[in-house]
Amino acid sequence: MKISGKTKIVGIFGYPVTHSLSPLFQNAAFKASGIDFVYFPFLVKPGDLEMAVKSIKSLNMAGVNVTIPHKKKVLAYLDKVSPEAKMVEAVNTICYRDDKLIGYNTDGKGFISSLTGEGGFDPQRKRALVLGAGGAAWAISFALIEAGVRRLSITNRTKRKAEVLLNHLTKFFRDKCEIMLVDFDKVNSSTVMNNIDLLINATSVGMHPEDPLLVNPELLTPHTFVYDVIYNRKTKLLKAAEEKGLPCLGGLGMLIYQGAYSFEIWTHKKAPLKKMRDALKEQRKCFVT
Ligand code: NDP
Repeated sequence: MKISGKTKIVGIFGYPVTHSLSPLFQNAAFKASGIDFVYFPFLVKPGDLEMAVKSIKSLNMAGVNVTIPHKKKVLAYLDKVSPEAKMVEAVNTICYRDDKLIGYNTDGKGFISSLTGEGGFDPQRKRALVLGAGGAAWAISFALIEAGVRRLSITNRTKRKAEVLLNHLTKFFRDKCEIMLVDFDKVNSSTVMNNIDLLINATSVGMHPEDPLLVNPELLTPHTFVYDVIYNRKTKLLKAAEEKGLPCLGGLGMLIYQGAYSFEIWTHKKAPLKKMRDALKEQRKCFVT
């Protein structure tokens, strides 16, 4: 990588940030595309977020990705926010252009591209169950409704958070889709599992090897597609789905696609998806397929 006076800076604001895979695949993408950008991880403490966002302007950066715990709070510091990010109330990409900081959310689009592109699953008229009500679940729920699911069920350990998501979705999509809440302790029933086509783990459960299985795999029916947003390992849920011969996918594709959409926002160039995936494959043979 050659840094010159023309090199543009992008990066990721997070706390923590050391685990992020984005610097690896974004720098590989810039190199492969011959784009004079460099991508850095920035450890931004919660109290420093406003100052960090202002520094995008003062340092004339091209933009940044935003991750935990800043995705919601960052909205307050931007000049403009895209319709998706407004709906999801979270931003994962900031672009600095014409003296304006513009916020986007590419997580939902990244999920749908992975599900349809890599997974070959068409969500139109399907019934989906989302486990979780955090940032990932919000982005995925909105994207699934926009992609045409017939029914969206939400469940979360903390019921109140699932209710907030449900109310928010209903406000936007009352007539577009049936949206319902499932009690977290009633998920493992054949009534629920027999009536879904797509199960998404959008919780952080599965990141650690000792994490439990939230769903009893015995109850999954042969037609159910299982998507797990976790990308750092093959989770127990994915292993169980594979053993049952169900169509399934881990979250790495979503990670790459959401990053690819950020790349395209900053550069106006098509992202080299294969190079991005290969960069991860080289470093982390264990889980990239
Ligand atoms: P949040 O912290 O916003 O939400 C975490 C969610 O997990 C909440 O719904 C929480 O439930 C649930 N949860 C945590 N622990 C448990 C448990 N022991 N049992 C049941 N539910 C639990 O995180 P995000 O939504 O931002 O991220 C969730 C996961 O998705 C992370 O692992 C993240 O790395 C991954 N992710 C992957 C992406 C990709 O591109 N593949 C993109 C974005 C995120 P409760 O409300 O009860 O606490």
